[in-house]
Amino acid sequence: MAATILDGTKIANDIRGEVAAGVKTMVAAGVRPGLAAVLVGSNHASEIYVRGKVKACEELGIYSEQHTPPESATTEDLLVLVDDLNGRDDIDGILVQLPLPPQVDAKKVLMAVDPAKDVDGFHPINVGFLSTQRLGLVPCTPAGVIEILKRSNIPTAGQEAVVVGRSDIVGKPAAMLLLNSNATVTVCHSKTRDLPATCRRADILLAAIGRAGMITRDFVKPGATVIDVGINKITDPAEFKRLFAGNARRAQIFRSKGSTLVGDVHPNVAEVAGAITPVPGGVGPLTIAMLMFNTVKAAKMRRGSGVVELSQI
Ligand code: NDP
Repeated sequence: MAATILDGTKIANDIRGEVAAGVKTMVAAGVRPGLAAVLVGSNHASEIYVRGKVKACEELGIYSEQHTPPESATTEDLLVLVDDLNGRDDIDGILVQLPLPPQVDAKKVLMAVDPAKDVDGFHPINVGFLSTQRLGLVPCTPAGVIEILKRSNIPTAGQEAVVVGRSDIVGKPAAMLLLNSNATVTVCHSKTRDLPATCRRADILLAAIGRAGMITRDFVKPGATVIDVGINKITDPAEFKRLFAGNARRAQIFRSKGSTLVGDVHPNVAEVAGAITPVPGGVGPLTIAMLMFNTVKAAKMRRGSGVVELSQI
């Protein structure tokens, strides 16, 4: 039987609606949450991401502003900017879009963001809060994964979860969130021995690798839930054929655009999985929705309100 497709676009729209309602209540009480995005230089992908985030703020009633220091900006320039944003009462969230230019000490800049305004959840203080189950700001993409599981009624407690990828942005926080929701968690990476066998143990398999279609059906236990975080653009016709042979709709996209998006999970996994997130339209839309939630959460927390869950905004 074909896998249930977990519709990330719908879940993200639901969350956006809930956040917008929360913002409306706050505005009525005299507080408009605010997000400042820092976009250094001219990186095309980063510009698109930041544009999407600013647009989402507009749609949800959140105040937003963009800061665009030049490509030549120094660490010191960015520290001055971040310090200014840290001190402003109308700014609840600060987002420093990565990657930063090579001359900038990115870790130093991220460390300078006030943890209470760290809506990406990258500051070591928030990482520590997550790993000790304290209230803090949680990285958006992994938080979105948990929302997909919750809202699709996929249980985590007692389940075997296998996370492939150990980045600070996705793999590690996703593993921590799954552990906090009582899954038994295994984290895999490039040095893992016999990756397919380890993945086949999973009731919930999460791929955050950055390799197009690497997780094939032989990695997946029949009936498992597969969450595909990967976003890879493919342009090579041979690679396209390996992934999408016989898929007329994709072939048309590939012909007209010269490229198409694929996750880290091979499309043939849908033949064995119980449930799966598509790419595009799976985890991707959740990232911005959870950023919006984090901005509202930060605004409420700074004003002394203990918001933990989306249901509480
Ligand atoms: P990173 O490159 O930071 O991390 C990749 C991880 O995958 C590393 O831990 C690496 O292991 C592991 N890995 C690489 N090759 C293999 C292999 N052959 N076998 C097992 N493990 C391997 O990537 P990110 O975590 O930042 O992103 C992962 C993917 O998610 C990317 O496709 C990215 O575009 C996507 N992404 C999507 C988002 C969304 O909104 N949906 C947001 C963020 C990312 P090691 O540590 O040993 O090197």
